[in-house]
Amino acid sequence: MARGLARKILATGRVTESADGSAPSGEAIPDAASALRGSLQIRHVDAGSCNGCELEVASTFGPVYDAERFGVRLVASPRHADALLVTGPVTRNMAVPLAKTFEATPAPKVVIALGDCALGCGVFAEGYGVEGPVADIVPVDVEVPGCPPDPTTILKAMRRIVQQ
Ligand code: SF4
Repeated sequence: MARGLARKILATGRVTESADGSAPSGEAIPDAASALRGSLQIRHVDAGSCNGCELEVASTFGPVYDAERFGVRLVASPRHADALLVTGPVTRNMAVPLAKTFEATPAPKVVIALGDCALGCGVFAEGYGVEGPVADIVPVDVEVPGCPPDPTTILKAMRRIVQQ
């Protein structure tokens, strides 16, 4: 069985998308990101997402897009994080936890608002349980639009922060 698995791995080869040689340029890098070059530890906060954005984030860290090769990792605690990656409109129940998570993240820190819902509540705007967009609760440094944004777009935003 192990031999069969090894043969399959060899036959499949490398599936990771090739990356451009340099970090994407264009938009300005947030001030707080200047200390995060080459290493970005991210705590993801789902503030009320439909889970569509989560699927794309999961793909960004999967074998095809492999964000970790640029020094970007997901971590389990805001105390270990340099950045918060926030998805979804902020629901009433998540406004206080999001603010507390922001407080628990050590400086320098960056907040990435990912998806149209995080940026402006998207399809959930004016919903009875929606408090508002992420920027109403915590300061946002990087905006990643889309419903949902695809892994290439997400990876570009992360590479811009780590400048890799
Ligand atoms: S931006 Fe789109 S995919 Fe992401 S949480 Fe909102 S509705 Fe879902």
